[in-house]
Amino acid sequence: MLLRVFTALFFSLALPLGLGAQGVPSPLSHFGFEMGEDRKLADWVQLTVYFERVARASSRVTLDTLGPSTRGRPLVMLTITSPENHARLEELRAIQKRLSDPRTIGGEAELSRLLDRGKTVVLMTHGIHATEVGGSQMAARLLHRLATSNDERVREILDNVILLNIPSLNPDGLQWVVDWYRRWVGTRYEAAPLPWLYHHYTGHDNNRDWYAFTQVETQLAVRKAHNVWHPHILHDIHQMGSMGARVFFPPFIDPYEQNVDPGLIAGVNQLGAYMAAELTAQGKRGVVIHDRYDAFTPARAYPHYHGGVRILSETASARVATPVRISQDDLRASRGMDVTTPSWNFPWPWEGGVWGLPDIVDYMEAGALALLTNGARNRRYWLENAFHVNRRAVEGWDKWPRAWVIPAGQENRAGLAYVLRILTTGAVEVHRAQEPFRAGGRSFPAGSYVVPMRQPFASFAQAMLEIQRYPDLREYPGGPPIRPYDVTAHTLGLLMDVEYHPVAEAVNVPLSAPIDIPDWEFRLPGALQGEGAPRIGIYKSWQEPMEAGWTRWTFDQHGLAYDTIRDERMRRGDLGRDYDVILFQSQSPGSIRDGFREGVVPPDYAGGLGDAGVRALRSFVRNGGRIVAVEEASDFVMEVLELGLSNAVERLPPDRFFIPGSILRVDLQEDHPLNRGRKSSTPAWFWQGSRAFDVLDPRIEVVARFGGGDPLLSGWLLGAQYLAGRAAVVQARVGEGSVVLFGFQPDYRGQTVATWPLLFNALAGAP
Ligand SMILES: [Zn+2]
Repeated sequence: MLLRVFTALFFSLALPLGLGAQGVPSPLSHFGFEMGEDRKLADWVQLTVYFERVARASSRVTLDTLGPSTRGRPLVMLTITSPENHARLEELRAIQKRLSDPRTIGGEAELSRLLDRGKTVVLMTHGIHATEVGGSQMAARLLHRLATSNDERVREILDNVILLNIPSLNPDGLQWVVDWYRRWVGTRYEAAPLPWLYHHYTGHDNNRDWYAFTQVETQLAVRKAHNVWHPHILHDIHQMGSMGARVFFPPFIDPYEQNVDPGLIAGVNQLGAYMAAELTAQGKRGVVIHDRYDAFTPARAYPHYHGGVRILSETASARVATPVRISQDDLRASRGMDVTTPSWNFPWPWEGGVWGLPDIVDYMEAGALALLTNGARNRRYWLENAFHVNRRAVEGWDKWPRAWVIPAGQENRAGLAYVLRILTTGAVEVHRAQEPFRAGGRSFPAGSYVVPMRQPFASFAQAMLEIQRYPDLREYPGGPPIRPYDVTAHTLGLLMDVEYHPVAEAVNVPLSAPIDIPDWEFRLPGALQGEGAPRIGIYKSWQEPMEAGWTRWTFDQHGLAYDTIRDERMRRGDLGRDYDVILFQSQSPGSIRDGFREGVVPPDYAGGLGDAGVRALRSFVRNGGRIVAVEEASDFVMEVLELGLSNAVERLPPDRFFIPGSILRVDLQEDHPLNRGRKSSTPAWFWQGSRAFDVLDPRIEVVARFGGGDPLLSGWLLGAQYLAGRAAVVQARVGEGSVVLFGFQPDYRGQTVATWPLLFNALAGAP
């Protein structure tokens, strides 16, 4: 304590005298423990104070607040480079801007001058998944090293690299996880799971937001770091499970999304392999490359469409900050390696033993330093590579059209604004046609939106607008499909129900300057507007699924009123007094009914609806209430209300039926009130949690069916015949009340504008 008081006093005196780097506080003096001690975690308040103190004391470091997080905490970025580079930071940023847009460079002499003077720009992001606690702790230790060390390696990094370091992409979650851990450390609930989503709206899905840009953390990072600095390298620092390799670096496995420039793929490969080589050289065992993680979805890889490489690292976890003991028998092989046998991509297996936060932070810091060293030593390569990527985009690829045209005057203004918002936030230039014109054999009205495809970030536009044809990858010929790491479709026009067209020739019409990022524009289907909207309750379990969080986001964006219903309220009964309709997002029957087992979490957070809650729900419906249930939760409703329905695709093995996140055509019963606002069919999202119903009960009416033939619109689908014609949305009367069950996901990650009307209509009231 005395030391800390003294340190604070020293700073208050020393800083005005400009004593500089020797006054930089160490993590030990600030926090009272080293970063990466077992059972010790710094929280967000302590970390941000530390960053401020270092930034004030060091001429190598500045600190900026990018904006408030979802729940109002500061999202901060540290800029770390030599004092000489800090003095010319604006010039260095201007060089990046020029190199990112080859159209602005006059000739070879100017290019050569820019390449000589520029620096490698690295963006490092930590802790987006808040229970992966090592990253943000490591950020403080790395900061201290870079602010104080004068060894040759650090000097080389500071001279050649501008490091933009976002020490937490999820400050809310970090604070919650640390508070929760501290509350229970030393008790039988030490390292118990956090019983709510660690991002208010998205939970773990927060790193699936790098094209939809729905969350403020994503928006701030894209607008204030990526689009300002055009980083050559993104180091995205994560943790994985405990039982495999100790750390993963790229190369990624196939497939890459097909619009990623080959120069970036090769750049990822060399940098990831270099990091693995450095750690192995230091004697760190258990380093794997080319395993599990692919690079298909743009939702996780913003730089791959903006001239940069994404280096994902995944370090093995402990139990939050509590060490684990792992025997060799506990270790588990992965797709790309046998955990006990050396191989080309896993040359030195880990032998088992104790693994904890000290190891995690050591491995992470070694990876970060290896990445920065590569960035520093290959400065010229990184600048040239990014320039060539962007120049190829400006020259256009043969596989791309010359432009995409989005007709003006579309009815679906919410979807249109969403698509334009995504493109412009992704730094794509979108213009408005100033006159009517013809292109590609079609007429377009004045005001139509034109996306010319010879521009630096055209690959982003192409990836977002075109249809995905995911490759048919199998474990072996004729064998089961290779499961994608995430999903296989992202076509905006289908998700958001917006019309647009590729045009093969240059568009010949006067164009406006590029438009600005439009605001959200949500126009609701009539059902939920105005006075006497139904009283909606959204069920929130202590095991809340991410889908429920996304729906909370969708409701908040639309300004819709709703109440959050917890198990305790359900069990109390008399639900009709407070609610007209209750929504269950995708959640398994066991999880809804039983929640966490006692002993796994503290007693206040154990259990689910229980028998009392189930009885209360039955009586709610029979007395006129309405339940809307999505995907897995429909199993729960079928059970408790004894509906004659089954899931037609439940027991099919993946080599016969497999849809790992795709967009399908769903045919709608015409003139049905639940389909108001939609045409005769709609694109809809289908993935692992989705269902297709066989209806065995005459009380049940089919509202929508999966399309016949091949319903696949974008992505990957095996076994179309098992879906064709099966019920996708059903409605049933039960007593005085009713239920609606969705087989597909009507609110996929806040993006499926196409099926929002169906969800809102279902919530709006009795048939
Ligand atoms: Zn993660």
